Amino acid sequence: MESQLTAIDFTDFYTIGYIFLFLSGIIFVRYLVASGLYHLFFFEFLKKTFEERFLRKKPLKRTQLFKEIYWSFLSGLIFAATGLLMYFLYIKGFSTIYLGISDYSIAYIPISVFIFLLVQDAYYYWFHRWMHLPKVYKYLHLIHHKSVYSSVLTSFAFHPFETIFQAVFLPMIIMILPLHIYALTAALVIMTISATINHGGVEIYPSGKFGLWLRKWFIGATHHDFHHRKFNYNFGLYFTFWDRLMKTEFEK
Ligand SMILES: [Zn+2]
Ligand SMILES: [Zn+2]
Repeated sequence: MESQLTAIDFTDFYTIGYIFLFLSGIIFVRYLVASGLYHLFFFEFLKKTFEERFLRKKPLKRTQLFKEIYWSFLSGLIFAATGLLMYFLYIKGFSTIYLGISDYSIAYIPISVFIFLLVQDAYYYWFHRWMHLPKVYKYLHLIHHKSVYSSVLTSFAFHPFETIFQAVFLPMIIMILPLHIYALTAALVIMTISATINHGGVEIYPSGKFGLWLRKWFIGATHHDFHHRKFNYNFGLYFTFWDRLMKTEFEK
């Protein structure tokens, strides 16, 4: 079934090229703005409050930050191409994305976001374990681990081969799991926020019981920082249970 959105002509290479550049620009600027704001907020405006929670005590080298921006720019191109592919699948009727709120129950919208995150988490955990195999590591994952102390800019800094494996999850899931367009948007926003928090270099989960609960179930800055520094622990993306189940969890 053809979609309800206006279809762009995929044989018109100029239009496709412009849309690709526009999407790449949006993704890259979003990355720079989100990273910049996050850094300003925790490391400048609220520095006094969060200083004790900084996970690195020295400033990072500029060369690391420039390299992270470079790899992230390439990631932006790949995610833009993925966005176009998803749109193509949608207009050709190959996706299960829907636009009518009442097509499924309203309760299904948050449930579908949760299912999306659960499936992506499982995909990433095992893909991540595979990338840590010595023969695979140097081709796919080494670039991301060059940042031993991660920064907020590390959140999108991957070798293009790794990015392709990460991005391919998106067209696959939209062909399997029915997702309202808002649910898909929410999942993509959560994906960005989570990557930013996990690499931000500052533990922002509150202290007290709620903070402990959060840290028990959800991956945060301390959890993922440990992965970058100690390498063989904490492979998950959003949830901690795969690491716990497979005995790869380590939390300070
Ligand atoms: Zn890793
Ligand atoms: Zn990382």
